[in-house]
Amino acid sequence: MNNTVSPALDVNTIRDAFPILQRQVNGHPLVYLDNAATAQKPLSVIDAISDYYKGYNANIHRGIHRMAEEATTAFEATRKTIARFIGAASSDEIIFTRGTTEGINLVAYTWGKQNINKGDEIIISEMEHHSNIVPWQVLCQEKNAVLKIIPVDDNGELSFEIFKKLLTPHTKLVSIVQVSNSLGTVNPVREIIEEAHKAGARVLIDGAQSSVHLDINVQDLDCDFFAFSGHKIYGPTGVGVLYGKKDLLEAMPVFQGGGEMINEVTFKQTTYNELPYKYEAGTPNIADTIALKTAIDFVESIGKDLIREHEVELVKYATRQLEDISGLRIIGKANNKVSLVSFVIDNIHPSDIGTLLDNMGIAVRTGHHCTQPLMKRFDIPGTVRASFAMYNTFEEVDALVAGVHKAVKILL
Ligand code: PMP
Repeated sequence: MNNTVSPALDVNTIRDAFPILQRQVNGHPLVYLDNAATAQKPLSVIDAISDYYKGYNANIHRGIHRMAEEATTAFEATRKTIARFIGAASSDEIIFTRGTTEGINLVAYTWGKQNINKGDEIIISEMEHHSNIVPWQVLCQEKNAVLKIIPVDDNGELSFEIFKKLLTPHTKLVSIVQVSNSLGTVNPVREIIEEAHKAGARVLIDGAQSSVHLDINVQDLDCDFFAFSGHKIYGPTGVGVLYGKKDLLEAMPVFQGGGEMINEVTFKQTTYNELPYKYEAGTPNIADTIALKTAIDFVESIGKDLIREHEVELVKYATRQLEDISGLRIIGKANNKVSLVSFVIDNIHPSDIGTLLDNMGIAVRTGHHCTQPLMKRFDIPGTVRASFAMYNTFEEVDALVAGVHKAVKILL
């Protein structure tokens, strides 16, 4: 196979930017197909982290010395870049978090505590990641509220008709994943947001998987909250983003208390800082936040459209070949799907395939992918998931398919 299917994307040059792709695993060249778990980092991102520590390590916002100013400027430059990247009206609406999980929890522990009361309803779906289930479950238990679930059909799509029926005057929030990390399904979030708003509910979008593959414009979508993680978009771990509409963020109670989030503290009463600092207590993850801008710059220098086109071709190519393997079943056949292929094989446990692929230097993810209710719905213990990024090649898909053939021969 060759790379001519996506002629506009120079995959070989892109690969040169990622040092880790040169390594060997178990005596084989690394074939990294676990990008939905975390993407690899280009050298520019790695350098941005070490440049900060080597050149201008200082705490931000409070210092008046030169390095503090340089660090603050670089840190705030990321906020501006993110605001543009996701189409926010203002960088005041960009809150830095540790990742998607913390972003969702922030909303549950602030907006949720303030707005969810006994008998209220929160709607999520059967394909949610645990981080978009458990915070709402905890909140509903505490408040005596009701968690309602949109079912997933055999193709791995949400039933829009059932969703509409689940909406009632008691629905306060719909919290939904834009792209499923287990199925690759792209959910019709625009339509979901529209319907939810008609019913008077707020909407949170889990953008952990979508922000790297789809063009995001939060104003256009009109979502109330949008959460994503830096590490899935070629940036560092430990930094993520929560977008919220300004009026909501202003009205919400504070999350964590501490330095930076205050205006004035007395023992009698404390007043809080303005947005976005109100939600950023303590010293943040400065180096990684600065490097997140470098990751976004890198993605944009290549072009999300070209990357997506390439990844869609990889998914199609992998699907076609994998489907030919006897006993193999693709889990997740949505019409609108990106970035990954999940599958099971009759009479073989997914982790056995994963282990044999690892022996061949091929990194895939096996298991429930933090979506246990979804696995239950398909009545499977888990899947083998190959997930793609801009640097993956068709030859790597060939290696995966050959590896699966070999694994089946050994295991059956
Ligand atoms: N939601 C989805 C759809 C995900 O794929 C993930 C990460 N696997 C998360 C939420 C949680 O992201 P993080 O672990 O970076 O907080």
